[in-house]
Amino acid sequence: MASTYEPLYLKYRPQSLGDLVGQQSVVRTLTNAIEHDRVAHAYLFTGPRGCGKTSSARIMAKSLNCQKGPTPTPCLECTSCVEVKQVNSPAVIEIDAASHNSVDDARLLIERAPITVGGNYKIYIIDECHMLTKEAFNALLKTIEEPPPNVIFILATTEEHKVPPTIISRCQRLMFKLINHDELAVHLRNVATKEEINIDDAAIDLVARRSGGGLRDALGLLDQASLLATKEKQVQLDDLLLMLGSVKEDVLLDFSKAIKDGAAEPVLQAALSLLGEGREPALIALELSKHFLNLAKAQLKIPVLGSPSYLEALTEQSKLFDRTELAQMIEQLSALEQSCRRSTQSALTLEIGLLSLCHRLEITELKQLKDKVVDLESRLASGVPPQAMHAQRPAARPPSAPPVSHAPAQSHAPAASYSSGA
Ligand SMILES: [Zn+2]
Repeated sequence: MASTYEPLYLKYRPQSLGDLVGQQSVVRTLTNAIEHDRVAHAYLFTGPRGCGKTSSARIMAKSLNCQKGPTPTPCLECTSCVEVKQVNSPAVIEIDAASHNSVDDARLLIERAPITVGGNYKIYIIDECHMLTKEAFNALLKTIEEPPPNVIFILATTEEHKVPPTIISRCQRLMFKLINHDELAVHLRNVATKEEINIDDAAIDLVARRSGGGLRDALGLLDQASLLATKEKQVQLDDLLLMLGSVKEDVLLDFSKAIKDGAAEPVLQAALSLLGEGREPALIALELSKHFLNLAKAQLKIPVLGSPSYLEALTEQSKLFDRTELAQMIEQLSALEQSCRRSTQSALTLEIGLLSLCHRLEITELKQLKDKVVDLESRLASGVPPQAMHAQRPAARPPSAPPVSHAPAQSHAPAASYSSGA
């Protein structure tokens, strides 16, 4: 028996402009254009992946060719609407520029353009249009500028900067954006209710945060999470964290506090416990680097996503860190993630990296002392007397190095003192 399963992102693909989530300005512009018969002959849809660009292009095709249209609310039942939905409409030609990017592809398209079907609009959707070659763009220029009547070009791209300005200036440009967290969470809750997915609000919240504002990714994650649910068993935050290989917010806060204090024992214990639960070392490092970045953002009062209790604790904890120190930790954790991905012993790499983070101050201090000894030795060997060294080279800490406590006092400069800034 054939499976009737349909992924959520396909099942809940917007069918009319009113279904588009979080793209108010696009919806308003296109609705007005259809209602006032002011549809442009070429559009450029820009924005991140999974935000509804291709769906919107198909919605335009439905709206313009619906037997009850043109209308912003196509009937979704007439032959034309059904054909567009089933992606077999003769009036809609979709081209993936990633695989059809040559000048010949562009010429073929231009030759076919004048053939409209039964007085309907003919809509060319060129997805990932930035992949077209320069020659293909040039071939398209004139047709886009003066297309045959009832022909509409919709170019979609995630990388607008790669589209030639000559093309951009001939299109009406509509910018799709990532969906804000609250709107996305509400939408996910609606879908979960309709699909009878037994999932709690904290888990929905995490799905919304994790997808970073992309609807397609969010619905993909919800789909995956739904497999953990039964009628009796609700998907909780912990189930989802485990599925995603993520770390709980309070565990992250304990980590950062212990790393700040240089307390290696609890840090390594916590890492071992996460590894024991089957989490990937690289993902642990990634979660930690994101969390430390959140601390830096909290210091700068830049909004961060998280539960209210996490955000409150984050703000408090961020006051303990020095800004430079925090920046260095983020860099170190990000490098650690990469090392874990490359390592054949990634758990070991993670533990070593965390240990070195805990002892970062001592390590830096030792390195600086070692450098000084090497420098002194080489100068003594070359016969420069120690007094002359100070005169030749005033001692100064490089601006990138972290402040170090108990630095050896110089005769002409006060010892650098370590202060934990706000
Ligand atoms: Zn229709």
